[in-house]
Amino acid sequence: MPKLIEKCSFCERSRDQVSLLITGSTGNICSDCAERASEMVREAEKKGPKKAFSLSKEELPKPKEIKQFLDQYVIGQDDAKKYLSVSVYNHYKRLLQKDSGDEVEIEKSNIIMVGSTGTGKTLLARTIAKKLHVPFTIVDATVLTEAGYVGEDIESILTRLLQVADYDVPKAEVGIVFIDEIDKIARKGDNPSITRDVSGEGVQQGLLKLLEGAVVNVPPQGGRKHPDQKMIPVNTKNILFICGGAFDGIEKKIAARLNTKVVGYSATKENNQVDRTNFLQYIAPQDLKAFGLIPEIIGRLPVLTYLNPLDRKALRAILTEPKNSIIRQYVKLFEMDDVALSFEPEVFDYIVDKAMEFKLGARGLRAISENIIMDSMYETPSGSQDKLCITLDYARSKVELLTQTRLISA
Ligand code: ADP
Repeated sequence: MPKLIEKCSFCERSRDQVSLLITGSTGNICSDCAERASEMVREAEKKGPKKAFSLSKEELPKPKEIKQFLDQYVIGQDDAKKYLSVSVYNHYKRLLQKDSGDEVEIEKSNIIMVGSTGTGKTLLARTIAKKLHVPFTIVDATVLTEAGYVGEDIESILTRLLQVADYDVPKAEVGIVFIDEIDKIARKGDNPSITRDVSGEGVQQGLLKLLEGAVVNVPPQGGRKHPDQKMIPVNTKNILFICGGAFDGIEKKIAARLNTKVVGYSATKENNQVDRTNFLQYIAPQDLKAFGLIPEIIGRLPVLTYLNPLDRKALRAILTEPKNSIIRQYVKLFEMDDVALSFEPEVFDYIVDKAMEFKLGARGLRAISENIIMDSMYETPSGSQDKLCITLDYARSKVELLTQTRLISA
């Protein structure tokens, strides 16, 4: 049998031309080629498929930690904060579990938050996004319509998520989506109407697919799908959906449900002690159904929580306490011009009174404060003063002017 010529199977140099030749059963490799091969492997690993989620269990922010973070920016709303913190934490745990081949598969728990406008739903979602290590986006349900109608396709929700994930699909597939104004896609009325409900039940049906977890073809640029557009398939199985809505008038439905219970023969003392000032705290899935969400959607949003209406005390706190409260922002702005800004404490109470009076909730605080401070913000940078105190009289004069003009007509 002819003696096999011992040479490298890659560069074909013979044993005496290389410093080391490693022999295998069907071929050989020289030390130079082995080194090059090892470099290529390292390169490939560096570039290789990115891990969508890279935190270890120890690095995960715990629910209490998440809530404490929210506390710095959002006043009150403890229930909603707790629910959100736990759900986000569990979302992370599911992502960690994905590779472990565990028998107990943790299902995702999408969340729905109910609360009047301006009570902090979006603020909560935005703030939690700061603490997250996954892509996060906020979308508005009001623009969605059933495919083929004027408006946006439901898949466009995922376009936004893809965009914030820089079109890294595995990363987007573990992200979190906040769908605002979910109540606006409630069924319009109880009877199926003759005209199609393209922005109500139709959208809910479409949304169902996303919430359940499915591979959805997403138009990369959003908007309408058209036949020659290249679609990106995205699996929604591990995307966490948080929905928010004001559900105007749902209190009546809750009250009606509670009342029927009280009247029934199971009425107990406890049932009679319903806090009539805030029915939202008793919200239950059947109230969402009565409002016009289809049962399948409700089933896919198992975590239901509520936000309290903001009372005077909460508004007062919102004005000054959060880390980036309106007043702190003004102080910072003046500080940048080397002016120490201060307020008489009565000014804060006055702003709150006016916000209550105009029924503008927390949104009103900004509008009113802005009007009080605007002239000073215009004058001060060109002046020579190094401190400024806003007095109650000054604040009053500014707001009275405003009352005669804009806000009143709003
Ligand atoms: P929603 O989404 O419930 O309609 P937002 O979260 O958009 O309301 O709130 C509107 C504004 O009011 C926010 O930008 C924030 O400044 C203020 N705000 C509302 N609720 C709170 C709260 N609980 N704590 C702090 N600020 C709040």
